[in-house]
Amino acid sequence: MAELDWSRIDRFLMGEAWAGSRIPEYRDHLCQVIGPRWGGSDADRETAAYIRSQMEQNGLESSRVEEFQLDSWNYSDATLSIVGSDEELEIKPFLRCPPVELTAPVVDLGYGTARELEAAGESVNGAIVVMTLAPEPFTPPLPHTARLSMAAGNGAVAAVVIESKTGGRMEYRSANDWRAPGIAPHPLPTVNISFEAGGRLKYLSASSAFANLSVNSRLFETPAHNVIAEIKGDQWLDEHVIVAGHHDTVLGTPGGNDNTSGTVAVMEAARVLATLKKETGVGPARTIRFATWSGEEQGLQGAYAYVANHHGSDGRNSPPRFALNLDELSTGHMKGVVVMTEHMRNFMQGQLDTMNDSLACHVQGSLDAHSDHFPFTRAAIPAGILWRWRFYGRHATSEFHHEFGDSAQKLNVRELKEYVGQISRLMLRLSHVAPGDWPENPHTADEMERRAVAEVGSHTPTFHG
Ligand SMILES: [Zn+2]
Repeated sequence: MAELDWSRIDRFLMGEAWAGSRIPEYRDHLCQVIGPRWGGSDADRETAAYIRSQMEQNGLESSRVEEFQLDSWNYSDATLSIVGSDEELEIKPFLRCPPVELTAPVVDLGYGTARELEAAGESVNGAIVVMTLAPEPFTPPLPHTARLSMAAGNGAVAAVVIESKTGGRMEYRSANDWRAPGIAPHPLPTVNISFEAGGRLKYLSASSAFANLSVNSRLFETPAHNVIAEIKGDQWLDEHVIVAGHHDTVLGTPGGNDNTSGTVAVMEAARVLATLKKETGVGPARTIRFATWSGEEQGLQGAYAYVANHHGSDGRNSPPRFALNLDELSTGHMKGVVVMTEHMRNFMQGQLDTMNDSLACHVQGSLDAHSDHFPFTRAAIPAGILWRWRFYGRHATSEFHHEFGDSAQKLNVRELKEYVGQISRLMLRLSHVAPGDWPENPHTADEMERRAVAEVGSHTPTFHG
């Protein structure tokens, strides 16, 4: 095969990503025309059909929608009222919070640490406990999921978790540790309360208030849809790399940053690389697959279904050489790649160095189950993310993720154009690395599964750490 002229290729990719960009159009269709895209909803189905049609229109091959069964949940109403008064405090149920209707004393648990649980003693038994989402400062941080399990173990009947954000805002949250296998049962009915209303509830608890908690929710199964498209390689025909991001959102938000940003980056990288091939004849040597997932916000279910269907225990398809996950790209500008296993570090840094943009490769020191790279990592498929909420340079506007304020305006168009160009350059490079030049993968799925289970309940370093 002829030597590739990377400087010419890079100029084309960055130029097309910038001047030919369709990001504003994709953003407006996803955020404004369709809007919130809860996995398994009609809007989610419409989203998958839209992305697939755009992939096809942009000349991608084998574009298709893959259906899977989503273990879903939703709620119609949730109230917390103080007994003996007409005071009602606004709450938001955590993901998969079971339906509940109970009246119980309210007990302030502080941060919900083991020390505070012990101090609260018998009063926790049968109580609605109030605890802050943020971990206790000055001690090693314990995730709220672990603290909720401890409270449930001491007999608490429900938990009201105080939001860290201020100004009456409440983020959509999960009470489960996503490193645990399968979909774990909810530790106890759990709802979120704003920082300010939480302060009011703590005050009321000091005078032995009772509260009535009512959550009208249900669990149900529903079909949901992933989107797949490809640019076929012409050299290593049974090999591929994959770049993907979730297209679903949490309830009630169009998800500008989380994750319209990653979705349009997948769509744009696909378009830019297909245009390169069409106009210059330069294509990937191994197939580049592009995917958008549903059900990420409900436990990474779309990516899990994909990995199980394509690379499950029957091993009928060879796994990708590398899976790059794009999530919340409008959190900050591109700083590099975070790989999930040490064996990929030097290799990935070497690839980034050829791009001459001072991009760095880091390794996530513990398994990170916060997004769609995790089902791949769990199956011992080399995976990584772009820097999104980690480390430094985070935009203040990215703090609106998982709430109503994560609107189309939170998606940073010019930064995303740069992301698209860089992602296209990186994926094309990865498609051209000869099979013998990839690092040996020392990991097995059994080993990764054991590691995931062993790390349940431990702290994962993130920006918020
Ligand atoms: Zn996300």
